[in-house]
Amino acid sequence: MQSDRERLQARLVGVNEGKSTADKRCGQFLAAIMNGATVGVGVRVMKFHREGDRLVMDAQAEIPEIASEVEFLTLLMNVGLDRVRRCLLPGCGNWFVASKGQKFCTLQHGNRYSYEVWRKRQKKGRRGR
Ligand SMILES: [Zn+2]
Repeated sequence: MQSDRERLQARLVGVNEGKSTADKRCGQFLAAIMNGATVGVGVRVMKFHREGDRLVMDAQAEIPEIASEVEFLTLLMNVGLDRVRRCLLPGCGNWFVASKGQKFCTLQHGNRYSYEVWRKRQKKGRRGR
């Protein structure tokens, strides 16, 4: 079985790609939350129906259209925001679930960042001479 971290990572891949409306909305939620905003999601509808002369309330039902967003936000709660980061490589900015101290979405992006920092230093050094 997948852990919440793995499930959240899979959802973040979807958010980064932003193909579905739900993924786009989750990306907006995440960005807003990280910026300190409060987000509202209409989580439940109450359903009533008649049984003879009695009015009966059904179990509160999730609205199917937002189930995906609710699941995403629940995973965020379980995993914790300190674990969710944005890749620091300029031009990437992908969201990911970080291991300790991880700053880049992939090892390749970490390497590319180090290389670009090194290259900038080389250029600066040459200009200074
Ligand atoms: Zn990246």
